[in-house]
Amino acid sequence: MNSERSLRLYESAELPIKRSLIRLDKAELFLFSLNDRPESNQPVTTKPTIMKFGGTSVEDSAAFRNVAHIVNSAGPERIVVVVSAIGGFTDALLSSVEQANDGDARTATRCLDQGFDRHRAIANQLLGGETKAQFEAALADARDQIRELHKIVAAHPSTHAPLRDEIVAFGELLSSQLLGAVLRENGLAARYVDARRLIKTDESYGGAAPLRETTIATQAALGPLIEVGEIPVVGGFIASTAKGATTTLGRGGSDYSAAIIGAALDAREIQIWTDVSGVLTADPRVVTNARTIPVLSYQEAAELAYFGAKVLHPKTIQPAMDCKIPVRVCNSRAPDEAGTLIVTSSEAAPQTIKAIAHKSGITTVQITSARMLGAYGFLRALFEVFGRHQTAVDVVTTSEVSVSLSIDDASALPELIRDLAQLGAVQVEERRTIVSVIGEGLRGTPGIAARVFSTISDINVSMISVGASSVNLTFMVDDARARETIVRLHRAYFEGEGSEQPAEMLTAEVRA
Ligand code: ADP
Ligand code: ASP
Ligand code: MG
Repeated sequence: MNSERSLRLYESAELPIKRSLIRLDKAELFLFSLNDRPESNQPVTTKPTIMKFGGTSVEDSAAFRNVAHIVNSAGPERIVVVVSAIGGFTDALLSSVEQANDGDARTATRCLDQGFDRHRAIANQLLGGETKAQFEAALADARDQIRELHKIVAAHPSTHAPLRDEIVAFGELLSSQLLGAVLRENGLAARYVDARRLIKTDESYGGAAPLRETTIATQAALGPLIEVGEIPVVGGFIASTAKGATTTLGRGGSDYSAAIIGAALDAREIQIWTDVSGVLTADPRVVTNARTIPVLSYQEAAELAYFGAKVLHPKTIQPAMDCKIPVRVCNSRAPDEAGTLIVTSSEAAPQTIKAIAHKSGITTVQITSARMLGAYGFLRALFEVFGRHQTAVDVVTTSEVSVSLSIDDASALPELIRDLAQLGAVQVEERRTIVSVIGEGLRGTPGIAARVFSTISDINVSMISVGASSVNLTFMVDDARARETIVRLHRAYFEGEGSEQPAEMLTAEVRA
């Protein structure tokens, strides 16, 4: 196939790297060739650093140049680059699948033209002659293949889950080939590697789980390249089954790819490069003056990610924690800022919280039944219903005669209600927000809940629970009151004179 041919062209491109063919204007002096890389007397560590760049870090040619600068500045370290699709392209690919599913394959493919043009524009600006032609061939191939896949989806609309992954994967396949080429043009020994050779998963299309084979496959594919000082460039988010079918790890899954690859290679550090300066005290889209948290424990970071801090995919922390690999979240637009370091343990100032996370658009389901009283087997029967309909439950609270559960994905709600009605009276509430107050300081600290709730005493809260890890306090409010709840808690804990946070926790800069 053509795409395999162009793909091989990238993989076999010869070393040593030639100086960039890009015509630099004076403002672009940060583009270095291999020879310009700073010399260092420090021994080169064999443990690589994983540098993952999100969609906003590769949205246009300026962003690609910036990534080249950041990778170059890493000096003599061994590096593996993981990259997301260019900003917005995954959304476009997904909606093209929906369009094809509605029967209009032609429009589905045409809707992607703007996205292809963006890739072309980046290649035009940053790649020279031969390399540019190679990438354009890969782009044309991708378009042809997607067009064929759209036709199949349109003809067989009900069976499109594997095909959707096949189509969506082109986002990362193209961005990683493009970034590999751009890094090479900038004098770096970069080498594109197809992520599907590394991460092996089950067949849960759209949210696949990695299999054990991943470790050996990743070591075998990347180890030799790293040993000779090359920089593998791998698309995040995408993987494949044992049979070779393309799978994806769920939205935002490139962070997870970086962690999986980092764990397989026993990385020195996993760096998540994004568009904000680290993990912040709250979602900056809700709290404009949210601040960088210098250090988080794995548990704090995992809870934050799980309860809505989009900056990290919820599954990212586990592989890093299992292998005790530090995770650093950095700003690709302000690379000199320290960002957030996530390690085994963090400072736990008593009575303090580190961050507020939230997740809106949640549905809660309450099941009330006198049969619960003193009975066993009731909860098992209840959870079996959720298992049967493959619906994950986030928060659970119970009283003697009722159980309340929250679900993020309400697509199976009618079936859930039907089956749960066999167990008791079912009450559903939609448009709810989970608010999570997080920090090691909550561990065994009495009175913190009272202080949190006194700050928002006029807001109706329900399903109050303390996470099993004891580093979070979670409750539910209406979506309509969520912003106000978060802003008020943030003001009370992190802002101004009345802030309960010791100043040094907010300002300290921590470097590993
Ligand atoms: P990327 O494309 O780099 O993967 P994402 O959009 O997935 O970036 O994640 C970064 C975004 O996460 C930020 O721009 C911010 O709006 C959002 N976000 C939500 N909560 C937080 C938080 N607590 N700290 C930092 N960012 C957050
Ligand atoms: N491109 C994928 C998405 O938009 C994965 C990622 O960006 O992490 O969800
Ligand atoms: Mg992300």
